[in-house]
Amino acid sequence: MQMRDSFLTWILNNFYKESITRISTTENKLYLTFDDGPHATITPWVLDLLKTYNAKASFFCLGKNVATNSEIYQRIKNEGHTIGNHSYSHFNGFTTGNKKYYNDIEQAAKEIQSKFYRPPYGSITPFQYQHLKKQYRIVMWDVITWDFDTTRTWQQCFDNTIKQVQPGSLVVMHDSEKAFGRLEKLLPQLLEYYSQRNFIFDNIKTQ
Ligand SMILES: [Zn+2]
Repeated sequence: MQMRDSFLTWILNNFYKESITRISTTENKLYLTFDDGPHATITPWVLDLLKTYNAKASFFCLGKNVATNSEIYQRIKNEGHTIGNHSYSHFNGFTTGNKKYYNDIEQAAKEIQSKFYRPPYGSITPFQYQHLKKQYRIVMWDVITWDFDTTRTWQQCFDNTIKQVQPGSLVVMHDSEKAFGRLEKLLPQLLEYYSQRNFIFDNIKTQ
């Protein structure tokens, strides 16, 4: 494990105790998560691919995108995946006033029925965390694919991901235009790689 990643885990374990970063299991299970959708064409593409592998996943949706792609939001739910709130406008908790930040999540909650919340950029102050955890399970991650980083190739994202994955890992990807240049190859390759190793792709359950 890289130094930076273990430091992040340490921060999360100490300041954000009840947040979910990884599911505790010894089984070969992987929790794929997709942030920032739903997107009109990319999310259906993801859903089709997941179906091919009999995979379940978790989608942390933006309220503003659910408002314009409500049929796709319904499809995610109908196909048995987990839905999470990822705010309405994607504000950064560190640089946004608390009231504005909470209101944005409330606005998203009108579109998104979920007890899970994932903060945009993973940026949430300890104070905001204490407030929001009364209402939500805060979901972070332990493996970030960097699919949103346009300077990386899908292969770099893939290599970085498989180095870090453990049983129960929460892997972050994005059903967004920015990420699609990498996701288009990364997702099929990850599904294939872990299927061959007898992993089950599971969704985060209410707990
Ligand atoms: Zn996001």
